[in-house]
Amino acid sequence: MRAFGTTIFAEMSALAVRTGSINLGQGFPDTDGPEAMLEQAVRAIRSGANQYPPGPGVPELRRAVSEHRTAHYGLDYSPDGEILVTVGATEAIAATVLALCEPGDEVIAFEPYYDSYAASIALAQARLVAVTLRPMAGRFTFDPAELRAAVTPRTRAILVNSPHNPTGTVFTRDELAAIAEVCKERGIIAITDEVYEHLTFDGVEHVPLATLPGMRERTVMISSAGKTFSVTGWKTGWVCAPPALAGAVATVKQFVTFTAGAPWQLAVAYALRHELGWVAGLRAQLQDKRDRLMEGLAAAGFEVLRPAGTYFVQTDIRPLGFSDGLELTRRLPELAGVVAIPTQVFYDHAERGRHFVRFAFCKKDEVIDEAVARLKRLSG
Ligand SMILES: *Cc1c(COP(=O)(O)O)cnc(C)c1O
Repeated sequence: MRAFGTTIFAEMSALAVRTGSINLGQGFPDTDGPEAMLEQAVRAIRSGANQYPPGPGVPELRRAVSEHRTAHYGLDYSPDGEILVTVGATEAIAATVLALCEPGDEVIAFEPYYDSYAASIALAQARLVAVTLRPMAGRFTFDPAELRAAVTPRTRAILVNSPHNPTGTVFTRDELAAIAEVCKERGIIAITDEVYEHLTFDGVEHVPLATLPGMRERTVMISSAGKTFSVTGWKTGWVCAPPALAGAVATVKQFVTFTAGAPWQLAVAYALRHELGWVAGLRAQLQDKRDRLMEGLAAAGFEVLRPAGTYFVQTDIRPLGFSDGLELTRRLPELAGVVAIPTQVFYDHAERGRHFVRFAFCKKDEVIDEAVARLKRLSG
């Protein structure tokens, strides 16, 4: 693990604190989740839910997840044997990769990719093979021929993150069909990171890969309460998969953390049943924030790519006369009092992302407005 030093988020968040900059780097909301859900967590603690819950998760949450999958996606997963509660999506991803990969196996991921993927794959002594997402007609997408060309006899799994962090792309049915085809033809398992499943904009619909024909049986579907209910500190996620796959993941999970925190699980079970209206409100608010930040960034001189989901907007910094996002983001506190994330750190082919910088908009309106006002100094 020597190659994995401190993450870019730690570096940039420390830089924000040290320089008193506005932090549009790390993607966490600066407001709380639904009040009644927070109250449920307090009540759970007060009423004694303070010892180890069952390894697969509390039955209330497994049932709530099962009902939610059926209601939203028409997917049926049994709470007994097909649903596993994890310590956030991060543990779910790590446990899944560790469960499914032998040393030397290959896992395909679309770059720029979420940073824990490379670390999880390294822990399994497997190899990450990156397929590049490139801007086309204003959104990041991939070339299906490139995906096909990346498959080898060692390819074990494809990690599919949609809505996609850090590009904001929500894969279309056609894009998902291209992935499904490759999985089915080549006997590959799909691991889907769907933590932003509810956070899509402009009426764009999130389609789980497992809903495509022939995919449920070969997909490990991963979700999390962190982004859905604005409680990233609760680290409560879940895996839905057919019994053989879910069982393999559970085998690893029991020796990584054994089980996840009990009070959060009970509160999230409540939220899945009663707070989806709150989530719809969050989605509308985030869409407004996206528009607010996009307008401001464009006015400050960035070229802005419109995200269809997530917390993030990608910008091309070349119109401002910069060419290297890492260099710019390290100087941005001094130039403008703002912290952002250089997208190139999420690529294996860093040169393909050198001119992109990611800004998070899951922040209070006044924080976004102040950041934009400061960023206007760049062109002034
Ligand atoms: C935030 C995030 C995660 C981590 O989710 P946790 O539930 O906090 O572990 C995983 N994948 C993506 C793409 C994310 O943005």
